[in-house]
Amino acid sequence: MTATLVVIGHGMVGHRLVDTLRELDRDRRWRVVVLGEEREPAYDRVRLSAYLGGRSRAELSLVAHEFLADPRIEVRSATTAVHVDRRARTVRTADGDVLPYDALVLATGSRPFVPPVPGREHGNCFVQRTLEDTDALRAAVRPGRPAVVVGGGLLGLEAAQGLQLLGMRPHLVEAAPHLMPAQLDTEAAHVLRHGADRLGLRLHCGTTVTAVNAGAHGAVRSVTLGDGTVLDADLVVFAAGVRPRDDLPVTPALRLGDRGGYLTDALCRTSDDRVWAVGECAAVRGRCHGLVAPGYRMARSVARQLTGRPDEPLGAMDTSTELKLLGVHVATFGSTSGEDGAVEMTFRESVSRYAKVFLCRDTGVLLGGILAGETGSRADLAARVGRPPAADLERVLFPDPSF
Ligand SMILES: Cc1cc2nc3c(=O)[nH]c(=O)nc-3n(C[C@H](O)[C@H](O)[C@H](O)COP(=O)(O)OP(=O)(O)OC[C@H]3O[C@@H](n4cnc5c(N)ncnc54)[C@H](O)[C@@H]3O)c2cc1C
Repeated sequence: MTATLVVIGHGMVGHRLVDTLRELDRDRRWRVVVLGEEREPAYDRVRLSAYLGGRSRAELSLVAHEFLADPRIEVRSATTAVHVDRRARTVRTADGDVLPYDALVLATGSRPFVPPVPGREHGNCFVQRTLEDTDALRAAVRPGRPAVVVGGGLLGLEAAQGLQLLGMRPHLVEAAPHLMPAQLDTEAAHVLRHGADRLGLRLHCGTTVTAVNAGAHGAVRSVTLGDGTVLDADLVVFAAGVRPRDDLPVTPALRLGDRGGYLTDALCRTSDDRVWAVGECAAVRGRCHGLVAPGYRMARSVARQLTGRPDEPLGAMDTSTELKLLGVHVATFGSTSGEDGAVEMTFRESVSRYAKVFLCRDTGVLLGGILAGETGSRADLAARVGRPPAADLERVLFPDPSF
């Protein structure tokens, strides 16, 4: 007999889950209804900066024709789930439809965090999470005019460069003493800063935006920084992190992680054995992940469970990152926490390149590392994680540019 799976959220991870289920469900046990609040079916959110730069919606789409044509799958775009009744096992949509389910997957992602800065509600203040956000941002671009990006992490840097490529003159404001504080140490950030300066981004680290000031028509005109500096700005982009979307009314309520997100075990199961959570909205063993690779791992795990396959509990997740900034290479691979007494080795060459690797103290195997500047490729190094590092590690990290 066919059972019904409802997936709430047709983003990158919700889509991967359904696509994997299609492949694994050879007995055609499941009929799937996917509810997506956005007008567009799933697309490559990671490439929104490319979209800002002029790529088309079609180029970002993740949804193949066969997927939409599959009679087992019903995609309802522009449809928001507004309530889950776990006792009745139903999901209600904003249109008033009530959908029964046998299994439910929450894949609602995150929403951008906008710090409570006075004036953040003024016109021409943006976030960049969706295609629509990006359309609105692009429409406000004025070549030659100044802009301010709040947040010097991956997304803030990408947004700043995107605006610059469209001809604006962006400032970037980061509260921490250096860029990408979640991923980089001071020295790697120094290489990044050098590259970002060369690209012409105007960086302000170790300070915050304390007010967004409006001009005559209610649109932003400038921002004030913590030290009183006023930066002219025709638009502001907040890229100050994300928060899991865990506020869908569910009765009885599901448990949340201490820092938000639907709390799950290592198999993405919530406290209700018919309800899973995957992607950025899931607090897997209490921890949310703001990257797509861990989400894809969760999607595969749940698709396997739904099709009766055993799955190893999710262990350490791949939290590798790579900045997609043209002209500056910065990346991390494997574990960069230096936990458990890992041995650290650092390599540097003026301000042009820097690498730090972490080796297991007992076994000597490569645990992970940080790369900045003209270093070896992250993929090559990531492939060696869990194995002894190459004998010519320094040459792998700093290949000769003439080859
Ligand atoms: C500009 C940008 C650049 C990025 N770059 C990188 C990168 O380089 N590397 C990387 O690993 N990650 C990157 N990310 C993060 C990556 O996009 C996310 O990790 C990934 O999209 C998470 O997938 P998800 O399915 O959990 O959430 P999402 O892709 O956000 O999908 C969630 C979907 O659920 C929908 N939804 C929410 N609530 C409801 C509801 N009640 N009813 C119906 N639908 C609902 C949302 O509208 C959304 O469409 C980037 C993100 C952005 C915004």
